[in-house]
This record gives sequence, C-alpha cells and structure tokens, in this order.
Amino acid sequence: MNLATTEHLTYKHRILGEYYGSENSPTVVIFAGIHGNEKAGVHAAHLVIEKIQKENIQFNGNLHLILGNINALKQNIRFHDVDLNRIWHQSALNKFKNGHQLDYEESKEQKEIFLIIQEILKRPGPFYFLDMHTTSASSVPFITISDSLNNRKFSANFPIPVVLGIEEYLDGPLLTFINEFGHVALGFEGGAHNDPSSVINCEAFIWKALVHSKCIDASNIIGYERFKEVLSNLCCEYQFFEINYRYQLREDENFEMKKGFENFEMIHKSQLLATSNGRDIYAPSGGRIFMPLYQKLGEDGFFILSSVSKFWLKASIAVRKLKINHLLRLIPGVTKDPENNYTLIVNPHIARFLTKEIFHLFGYRQQILKDDKLHFIKRDRNITEL
Ligand SMILES: [Zn+2]
Repeated sequence: MNLATTEHLTYKHRILGEYYGSENSPTVVIFAGIHGNEKAGVHAAHLVIEKIQKENIQFNGNLHLILGNINALKQNIRFHDVDLNRIWHQSALNKFKNGHQLDYEESKEQKEIFLIIQEILKRPGPFYFLDMHTTSASSVPFITISDSLNNRKFSANFPIPVVLGIEEYLDGPLLTFINEFGHVALGFEGGAHNDPSSVINCEAFIWKALVHSKCIDASNIIGYERFKEVLSNLCCEYQFFEINYRYQLREDENFEMKKGFENFEMIHKSQLLATSNGRDIYAPSGGRIFMPLYQKLGEDGFFILSSVSKFWLKASIAVRKLKINHLLRLIPGVTKDPENNYTLIVNPHIARFLTKEIFHLFGYRQQILKDDKLHFIKRDRNITEL
C-alpha cells in the first residue's frame, strides 16, 4: 500500500485484518495510525496481512489489526480536532455509554475503537495491545510502557530501548487506559515519520510480538530470522530508561529545537538545545535527549532521559513481588484512596521526605495533583474486565 491509498478510507475499513486460533489462547491487538501523519505502522500492518495470506500462516492465538484516526490518515495530519491519543478519560467513555452527543471528529473514531476493544476483551486472554507510532526526529526504534512487571517482561523480548513511565507526562493516552485493566500494552515507535526503515521496523516488531506472545510459532514464519535481526541492535548499554526532565511548551511559545538532535543522543549539562521566543534554552542536566520536537504540533519541546540500573530493576521486582506496598500506607501523610485500590494519596507537606523514586520502586507512577495532594497510581494490576 502506498501513501495515496489512504485517501479512500472510510470507517468500514477500520479493521484491517482478524485472524483466529483457539478460544483460550493469547490475543494480540495492533493499533496503527492513531496519529494520522504516522503511516509506517499502517504500511507494516498491510505487509503482515499480505504475508499471512500468501503463506497461509497458521495461528495458535488471535490477531486483530485496527486502524486509528481514519479521517486524519486520509488528510495526512496528526489529528483533526483533538489528539486521538489524549482523550482516553473515563468521562469521555461514559458519554458513549450514556449515548451523549460526541464533541469532536475524533470522538467518533474513539467510540468505534472503544467498542471494538470491548468486544475483543470478552475472550479469556491473555491480551497484548500494541500501538504503532513514529517520531518527528530521526530515531532508533524504541518502546514506551507504563511501568508494570508484565509490560517490562514482554518488552525485554525486544533488544531495543524501553522508556518507562511516560504516562506521567501524558494526559489520556490509549495505552494507559488499556493498562488500567492489567493487560500488556506497549507503544512502539518505529523511527522517523517518513523514513522507509520505519516500516521495516514496525513489521519486524509485529512479527516478533506475534512469536513472543505465542500467537504464532516462529517456525511458521518464513524468513523470521530476518525480522529478528532488524530489532537486534540495542543502541545503548542499558535497555531501560526513565524521564527525569520535561520541557513543556507554554501556549503561544515560539519554540525552536536546534537542528540535528537524534533521539537518545547523549547530551551534557548546559548544552544549548533550543530557543524559546529568541532566548537560548540549555540542558538542565546531562543524559539522553528524548523526543526533540521537530514538528509544529506538540506540547513538549524535549525530554531528558536517564538509564535505569539493573540493580534498581531487580530491586523493584523484589519489592513488588513481596506485595509490601501496604507498608507505604503506614507512613504519616500517606493514605489509600477510598475509591480506588490502586491509588495512594500523599500530603506533600507531611510526607516531605518521600521522593518520587520510592513510589517508582513500589510500582506507583503517574502523580496527579488534586486538592493540594499528590495521587500516585500503581501500574501493576490483577486483571479486571472492561
Ligand atoms: Zn504518534
């Protein structure tokens, strides 16, 4: 499929392909084109479908390939009214259930996707939700996840960088909504928007995901070794990263990133990174630059990453498996949210010594400030129904 062929799309094209194995087997769900200017995932999905049909590949599990923002894909724009990857709030979903009028072009797309997900989740599982994206800057392929143990374990199958906890900085992404139900949910960024190798990376990612989820046996995929090789180069010494700085854009800010930064490129403290309204912006710390903004739309200028040590990864697995998170509630200034088992409410004036890192260790991410208190939400879940 070439770029031009997205012009004919209508809502009835949303499901690109569905393949079934047995009822009690894993289900892989691929989303492509949630952002309409990111077509590599859509092309890759078509290549996968072509190969499945041509080689009559047998499935143990189930596969659904689903298109995201169809109207935006047709126009080759990121979104029309609102970003389809920032509106997955409970309030929006309640509107669907109550039959309320939908506000945006994207709400119609969201409603259809929501109904499809609901239908898929009627099966027993396990489920693997994978969302295919590309970036405005040139980049090695990488994965973004909410920091739950099942997400970490599945991402470790792909020897490429994994960025933990990006949802702390995003409001309403699709995968955070999926994570609320405890299913594996990985964002895959295949490379730069228009780089042909992004399509190759996305295709390799889908095949590897189908094998590692045990949806298809590797022996049934002709040329599987080739796909394995595509995603076999870890760009850095460490695989896991977390965000330790975000440059958030103000409204009407004239922000310009200095040219030539690649994702995950090493930067040093005080390095000149960008200009804002003509003023120079320097790196507040060293690390690796992440998601430098090279397109018009966006809320973040750049992030700075630090690598997560193997020691911290192991320590956090031990702490979470011991299920001693209730100990956090014994600390003055920390209470459990009476309405949500997975949320701790922290009074920052009393529990001043508690740092974000301690909550991260116990598996709590996404701090939200509500009524002067911080809300930390745990990412590991017992699987719940939608
Ligand atoms: Zn995207």
